[in-house]
Amino acid sequence: MRLDDVSVIGGGPAGLFASILVKRARPDTAVTVFERSVPDSTFGFGVAFTRRTLELLASADNAVVSRLRDASIAMPRQEIRVGGRSVFSSGNDGAIGVARSALLTALTDIACDLGIRVELGRAAGLAEVSAADLVIAADGVGSEVRGQLARDFGACVTPGRGLFMWLGLDRRLESNLFAPVRSADGLFNIHCYPYAADRSTIGVETDEDTWRRARMDRWTQDTPADESDKRSIEYLQDLFGPTLGGTLLGNRSRWMRFRTVTAARWSAGHVVLLGDAAHTAHYSVGSGTKMAMEDAVGLVGALQDPAYATLPEALAGYETARRPRVERIQDLADRSRLWWETLGQRLDLPPAALMLAYLSRGGAVSAARLAEREPGVVAEALAQAGLGPLDSVLDAPVTVAGRRFPSRIVGDRDGTTLAADIRDPWGDEATTFVAAARACADVVVIAGAARRERLLDRLALAENVRRRAGVPVAVEADPALADDVVDAVIAGRIDLVRFTVPTDAEEPR
Ligand SMILES: Cc1cc2nc3c(=O)[nH]c(=O)nc-3n(C[C@H](O)[C@H](O)[C@H](O)COP(=O)(O)OP(=O)(O)OC[C@H]3O[C@@H](n4cnc5c(N)ncnc54)[C@H](O)[C@@H]3O)c2cc1C
Repeated sequence: MRLDDVSVIGGGPAGLFASILVKRARPDTAVTVFERSVPDSTFGFGVAFTRRTLELLASADNAVVSRLRDASIAMPRQEIRVGGRSVFSSGNDGAIGVARSALLTALTDIACDLGIRVELGRAAGLAEVSAADLVIAADGVGSEVRGQLARDFGACVTPGRGLFMWLGLDRRLESNLFAPVRSADGLFNIHCYPYAADRSTIGVETDEDTWRRARMDRWTQDTPADESDKRSIEYLQDLFGPTLGGTLLGNRSRWMRFRTVTAARWSAGHVVLLGDAAHTAHYSVGSGTKMAMEDAVGLVGALQDPAYATLPEALAGYETARRPRVERIQDLADRSRLWWETLGQRLDLPPAALMLAYLSRGGAVSAARLAEREPGVVAEALAQAGLGPLDSVLDAPVTVAGRRFPSRIVGDRDGTTLAADIRDPWGDEATTFVAAARACADVVVIAGAARRERLLDRLALAENVRRRAGVPVAVEADPALADDVVDAVIAGRIDLVRFTVPTDAEEPR
């Protein structure tokens, strides 16, 4: 496959890392990166990498990872702080926080050393680079290339319900902290972690009603695009100052809505989308940069694979191999987004139960797995939820809405069964479902397809029903997925379960 000339639009993590890997694999290829901004010399914010991501990136380019490690600090343990009470969980072993600016500087330096032309402060359009053998469109979430070839890529951009702002803090936090705090206007939540000796990243989120009540909608409107929303930052400083013990720092910080990007196809002819241009994952799973850089590894792996004779074959091969992993993260991230957007619904949970609800929100960590490394947190969550040992959660007798059940496992004849296949557990369709459930005097059993993703949808919907309809709630579940069911009991999503073994005709898990 001929690849004399590669043009990269966008000098973020995806574009720069891809350019480095192409150049290392093919030293004779002329590689140019166009980046419209000039790097911020003041400060950016941090990004986080897990141990596993670092290992994968190091296997592709150890020099980049060494530079990252040198500029990074170790990620501390997780903390959820609610109403002055905290619960901690390790689980960040080997993870690091690093300034985005340090990451970009390292990548740019290495790219320049390899002889890649990095044109900073230079916006590029598709027309001017289309003569290249390969165009890598790594131009971020607002990708113009994706917009120009919208039909070819079959792209879809969906804004979230909530609002968020990215800020810095002038000190190193001791934990990877989540702390919801109520103001007179409503609930604000922060996700924070340190990324340098004297800096931390702070992601703040709130819901639309709170944002409007606080008049932040007007402040957002009045803030020029290249400035920070000073009035919102002052407000947040007053609210979170005591929790954070430092001063919030803005860097063109303003309220935004998270945009979920998906694309039916990632390449069109000799143009390939990479990183946020192709797909985004809600910031609460901290995976955007990692996905962007892993894309680069996958793309260059396919370009070098002798199984592919032509560029279109290699681009198709890259997508086939990479898409399932990306979609899994996007699925997890979307569940996480929905969970955070409705955090206010579950703040009555005690901290350890909330920690477990948080860890299991997308199905990535179960109480069973957590108990292996942190039995204390699980024991505390069980005690706070008034439950016995983990292995008897489903078998112990329980009283729900004044009715005694010999165990949490109900039979085929118990309750009223309502089928549901609802992806957004807090959206309009879910509200209609809650109304139907409220009309049932008995236990409501939410039934649906056996596969795990659909069970996770039902468990999230069950939480809404349980909280808003005020009826005992069960879900139908495959016994093989009992761990998810146990998590849901501890996290207060369900009261009961009806186990149903899937028939052969049902979708595989
Ligand atoms: C609040 C928040 C917190 C986050 N936290 C984390 C985290 O902890 N961990 C993590 O892994 N990720 C995190 N992310 C995600 C991460 O920032 C992005 O996913 C990541 O930067 C994507 O890399 P990229 O190279 O695809 O795009 P970008 O980093 O957006 O880079 C795209 C580049 O293209 C340039 N560009 C655009 N158009 C043109 C053009 N026409 N010509 C030239 N240049 C152009 C832009 O200037 C930009 O530099 C977070 C994101 C947000 C919003």
